[in-house]
Amino acid sequence: MSSNKKVCILYTGGTIGMVPTDCGYAPKKDYFNVLLNEIHQLKSPALPAWEVVEFDPLLDSSNIAIDEWNAIGREIASRYEKFDGFVVLHGTDTMSYTASALSFMLEGLNKPIVFTGAQIPLCELRSDGRDNLINSIIIAGEGEVREVCVYFGGKLLRANRSTKISSEELQAFDSPDYPPLAEVRIDIRYNENAMVLPSRPKTFHLTELHSFPIGVLKLFPGFQFELFEGMINSNLKAVVLEAFGSGNIPTNNRALVDGIRKSAANGTIITVTSQCQRGGTTLGTYATSNDLVESGAVSASDMTTEAAIAKLYYLFSCGYDTDRVKLMMEMNLRGEMNE
Ligand code: ASP
Repeated sequence: MSSNKKVCILYTGGTIGMVPTDCGYAPKKDYFNVLLNEIHQLKSPALPAWEVVEFDPLLDSSNIAIDEWNAIGREIASRYEKFDGFVVLHGTDTMSYTASALSFMLEGLNKPIVFTGAQIPLCELRSDGRDNLINSIIIAGEGEVREVCVYFGGKLLRANRSTKISSEELQAFDSPDYPPLAEVRIDIRYNENAMVLPSRPKTFHLTELHSFPIGVLKLFPGFQFELFEGMINSNLKAVVLEAFGSGNIPTNNRALVDGIRKSAANGTIITVTSQCQRGGTTLGTYATSNDLVESGAVSASDMTTEAAIAKLYYLFSCGYDTDRVKLMMEMNLRGEMNE
């Protein structure tokens, strides 16, 4: 592999660089380069040249949200021409949210942006961070994938299809409804067919996101919606409703149905995702989704909740009106869904 490529590593925090403290693992400022210095493989001439940009403050990803998504986007945009690819080191807990958001924010992307991290910190003997980091640098330098992805435990996944599936296994991520973009075995096997993206603008552009009132409501049998009615009200611009199966709700729960109908009539966009990991929603299949159809709810198809939230923020940040947001929620923008 040629090493005339340059990769920028954005270190935002997360387990990979954490150290034990009295209150549990936490990131430590200005310490990451010390950890990297101890990994002699990172000095191999077979690797692309790399540079680290350390964020300040370093964060556990539970504390990462829209401001940090924008900061990551800006760091990438300001170095976009200078580097062949980017690795974003990020905590695993909300990695799929951030990576999904960046997949919408970075338009016309023509280089790899690889999110990775670790389940065990680099300071520990059995850290998975070394392999994750080295493979991510290689993938970012190779330039085969030109989209935002998550590399973890041997699999390269489309960011906006990924989800954290395990808090303890080293293969912590999966994209249950989309094949991996690559699998890392003795060699790196890219899956060309999975890399196909919808046509997109040629020029690279960063759209920064703004905060909007969005809610997520997960249904369960016996849900006493009347106790939580305030959860969906006209202040919300959108609700991601995690429904059963292909998008069904308990229609004998009139408080829930009326609440959904009322807030939809008040302009809240009801976006319906499925609690199933595969297959997504097809509203109208069962009578138990008819109220959603009639209230003008949007089918998120096979989008993950993470991608649906990120996409809503993105579309609202573009300044689109409610009808346009609804229309675009059902359009495949970055490979996040089957239309
Ligand atoms: N709590 C950590 C984080 O998300 C977990 C991890 O990185 O694996 O920052």
